[in-house]
Amino acid sequence: MERLQKVIANAGICSRRKAEEYILNGKVFVNGEVCKRLGTKVSGNDTIEIDGQILSYQEKEYYVLNKPRGCICTNEDEKQRKTAVSYIDTESRIYCVGRLDYDTTGVLLLTNDGNFCNLMTHPRYHLPKTYRVNLQGTLKDEDIKKIKKGLHTKEEKYQPARIKMLEVDPTRDRCQFELTISEGKNHQVKNMMKALGYEVRKLHRCSFSFINVEGMKPGEYRKLKPFEVKKLK
Ligand code: URA
Repeated sequence: MERLQKVIANAGICSRRKAEEYILNGKVFVNGEVCKRLGTKVSGNDTIEIDGQILSYQEKEYYVLNKPRGCICTNEDEKQRKTAVSYIDTESRIYCVGRLDYDTTGVLLLTNDGNFCNLMTHPRYHLPKTYRVNLQGTLKDEDIKKIKKGLHTKEEKYQPARIKMLEVDPTRDRCQFELTISEGKNHQVKNMMKALGYEVRKLHRCSFSFINVEGMKPGEYRKLKPFEVKKLK
């Protein structure tokens, strides 16, 4: 449920102040009845009319899914693969905030709010994302330094990233570490590792800013709380 003046303003019709004026002047109808009370709460099921025009209003929905491996982040797929969106039980047309690869697991945000989606994925909006990386090979100290300094390859310039080693298994020549990046370039983690000559065996996004999926099974999801959405913006 959202406040009527906010819903009108968010629909892009006018400012919130103007919306309040419309309401007080008796120009707004909710479910066919005039509504002059500021702050009236409305939901997506209510019909809102302003000056005879029906407002198309859809309540905003925000979710975090613990993405399992084996699903894609686009809504349609020519290969008919399972989509991340199909895990969420909703009537709204929602989509993923950015993309995780088919085999990547972990924190994935989904919403029907286009503005939120654009903001979260905008290149200038640097929210930290932390990945747990299982690597074939053992990261050399010189490569760790490059990652921390900002890896520059022929194709890309990556900003400095944070790295925390978790485990080294010399017998199988593998290691595990956490990598925190603030960009969202395509296949960024895999491409960074490839540029340094390593192969990513497993990739899990532990967090998107302060949002994590601790205690959630793969495929489990929850609605984000309003304060969480506010804090992300
Ligand atoms: N980087 C990748 O390479 N893949 C992902 O899914 C996310 C980040």
